[in-house]
Amino acid sequence: MTSKMKVAQISKPGGAFELVEREIPEPGAGQVRVKVEACGICHSDVLVKEGLWPGLQYPRVPGHEIAGRVDTIGSNVVEWKKGQRVGVGWHGGHCFVCAQCKRGDFAMCVNRKVTGLDFDGGYAEYMIAPAAALAAIPDELPAEEAGPFMCAGVTVYNALRNSGARGGDVVAVHGIGGLGHLGVQYARQMGFVTVALGRGKDKEALAKKLGAHRYIDTDAADAVAELQKLGGARVILATAPNAKAISGVVEGLSPNGNLLVPAAPNDPLTVSVLSLIMGRRSVSGCYSGTAKDSQDTLEFSAVTGVHPMIEKYPLSRAADAYEQMHSGKVRFRVVLTMEE
Ligand SMILES: [Zn+2]
Ligand SMILES: [Zn+2]
Repeated sequence: MTSKMKVAQISKPGGAFELVEREIPEPGAGQVRVKVEACGICHSDVLVKEGLWPGLQYPRVPGHEIAGRVDTIGSNVVEWKKGQRVGVGWHGGHCFVCAQCKRGDFAMCVNRKVTGLDFDGGYAEYMIAPAAALAAIPDELPAEEAGPFMCAGVTVYNALRNSGARGGDVVAVHGIGGLGHLGVQYARQMGFVTVALGRGKDKEALAKKLGAHRYIDTDAADAVAELQKLGGARVILATAPNAKAISGVVEGLSPNGNLLVPAAPNDPLTVSVLSLIMGRRSVSGCYSGTAKDSQDTLEFSAVTGVHPMIEKYPLSRAADAYEQMHSGKVRFRVVLTMEE
């Protein structure tokens, strides 16, 4: 085996992707080396590209939607074996000793690490990950599908399963994009009356194919009135990165309804607090999940037949792949693959 690997790195805030050779790194105690097979491109990779993450050190290899195989195991790793298929997501490990970790809430660890931000991620042939950040990939999931489940997938899956909605409740997914196209599938498979909210008539057929029982074209109809005809939505999963559009659907919630926001729009939301009070409604942020949450996402997706819609690019075209992601033209997730 050669001792070199290819990576796509960013060297400074606003810098271009550079395809460079590096030494293949060795895992330390509690770590494994993953031979990357696929890595999804997430909107939040912009944090590395443009230097928007506090304390980020360059050069940095982005990428936190990783699927591959355990290649080498460091000391003190007992649960993983060489050759095992694993995913690594946004949650890149935790300290086990802070107050949140002592409560078992590892995602809220005050010393948590983020893959591809705090350490090098998956735009690479190999990467090093803490053993505590690994999820096992079921055999039936190909790597290029497992990758996007490690951030986009787990974020919406966790948001929905922890939302308090029960089977039969109305759950609306606002926006049919990278997160939303998975959100519609999960909402349907979790037994919710699934309503997709999108812009334009042309998204209706796709939304229904993904499992939506109903589609509301927000350009043509009053989304709030349409949702209220159904009794209001117990949950609205707001995936469209548009603060004005998100703010505009809050009154479509039922009493005790919850607007879940898994991705950050650039602008603040504008919400009538009186409407929150009178309907006992809430607005909540959704934070990714731990490795076990990701593994649950992978397993649920495999048994229920949830699939990401992807466009594949080789690692050597990381810059094009990233542009495609940010152009908004992608349907719906761009995935880098390590085979040319
Ligand atoms: Zn992400
Ligand atoms: Zn901790």
